[in-house]
Amino acid sequence: MPKRVAVIGAGPSGLAQLRAFQSAAQNGAEIPEIVCFEKQSNWGGLWNYTWRTGVDENGEPVHCSMYRYLWSNGPKEGLEFADYSFEEHFGKQIASYPPRAVLFDYIEGRVLKADVRDWIRFSTVVRWVEYHAETGDFEVTVHDMAEDRVYRERFDNVIVASGHFSSPNVPEYPGFDQFNGRIVHAHDFRDAREFEGKDVLLVGASYSAEDIGSQCWKYGAKSITTCYRSAPMGFRWPDNWEEKPALHKVEGRTVHFADGTSKDVDAIILCTGYRHYFPFLPDDLRLKTRNRLATADLYKGVVYVHNPGLFYLGMQDQWFTFNMFDAQAWYVRDIILGRIQVPADKQVLMADVAEREAREEADDDVKYAIRYQADYVKELVAETDYPSFDIDGACEAFFEWKKHKAKDIMAFRDNCYKSVITGTMAPVHHTPWKDALDDSMDTYLRT
Ligand SMILES: Cc1cc2nc3c(=O)[nH]c(=O)nc-3n(C[C@H](O)[C@H](O)[C@H](O)COP(=O)(O)OP(=O)(O)OC[C@H]3O[C@@H](n4cnc5c(N)ncnc54)[C@H](O)[C@@H]3O)c2cc1C
Repeated sequence: MPKRVAVIGAGPSGLAQLRAFQSAAQNGAEIPEIVCFEKQSNWGGLWNYTWRTGVDENGEPVHCSMYRYLWSNGPKEGLEFADYSFEEHFGKQIASYPPRAVLFDYIEGRVLKADVRDWIRFSTVVRWVEYHAETGDFEVTVHDMAEDRVYRERFDNVIVASGHFSSPNVPEYPGFDQFNGRIVHAHDFRDAREFEGKDVLLVGASYSAEDIGSQCWKYGAKSITTCYRSAPMGFRWPDNWEEKPALHKVEGRTVHFADGTSKDVDAIILCTGYRHYFPFLPDDLRLKTRNRLATADLYKGVVYVHNPGLFYLGMQDQWFTFNMFDAQAWYVRDIILGRIQVPADKQVLMADVAEREAREEADDDVKYAIRYQADYVKELVAETDYPSFDIDGACEAFFEWKKHKAKDIMAFRDNCYKSVITGTMAPVHHTPWKDALDDSMDTYLRT
């Protein structure tokens, strides 16, 4: 009997896994039967946009945390697939910070070319996974929402690629229940135009607060206030944007901060992060980790140390995204194909995790963190046939990006960088980001 492998999720990580197996098959390898379960009706993961919030058409939690006018928050030169360049997909080089729809199209282009859609069972939610020690395989229980049918199947391996930016971390502050305005978590934020002419408070000081605040500013919010627990973001903000220390309490429309100051606001957006959440996994299989570069309990960042038949993709905090998922997917594929051996001694696996954690904790500098993750991608790429690419060059694009943000946070997306896959320089986009209110693919790709 050929081996059977379950992949949970058809976002960028799960799709990387399908492409990895398809590329081995294309090169003549015999591959296992691959079954990918995806709870949404289409692929793309977070990039599969929906206006919905709360529950989806099947009553399941909406996966999407993206919003209508989202543009890439890092240069595309840092995430480009080594086996499928932007130029190959679009027939020309494009500007460096594409909007969401353009990136969705790019992600989709590679898997359409690989012709793996038939491997995916859409609108199928994974409800439970169980390991059977006697037979050494996994039983996966799923709910086919279209047929309204629950069934079980057995697999030799399970690869969890369900993402970790979907289940919101929602704090409570005194007075929230009496607030005379809208309170929403970033997960449910969809359209910045809702906040036009409004005074908006964003709780948090990371990417979501920075980007959702910038969106609201771009689409005409009256004022933006962000508040931080440990440190301000410290960019040179526009005049109607201020940073405050931690939120203390809310009274009516008035928000009070830890320094004793207060402000009246119309809306509060909680940019308070996400949790790794796997409701379909029992204790012995469930990854428990913080959002960090060296995840807990994953040998080489992918093999679950407590059961090496189980793999996780994309569970790290992310500087590198699509190409890191590729590096992981090719590596996991090669373990499953028997080309790479995982040490049998659990102590060796745990020592690998401990070494990664110690190295991550050795420095808290941003450049160090980017290099750290670049080294990780290099390490995995070196062990498989994933096309090698200039990972140091991708780091340089990230370093430039950081500088451009520090110079002008509302204009960093107007810069361009060189592709590390094709060596071509990206063109300057026809409209500065702050003026580009129509971010449809047609408008973006127009020269
Ligand atoms: C607001 C926001 C903006 C971002 N912006 C960028 C950016 O500009 N550039 C960038 O590179 N990255 C960005 N990211 C990072 C993002 O994590 C990655 O780009 C990428 O989407 C991660 O891919 P993934 O496949 O690991 O997870 P996801 O994209 O989350 O996909 C996981 C998939 O698993 C499915 N799934 C989950 N549970 C189940 C289940 N029980 N059964 C079946 N299917 C299930 C989901 O429906 C989904 O399709 C952003 C993230 C967020 C939240």
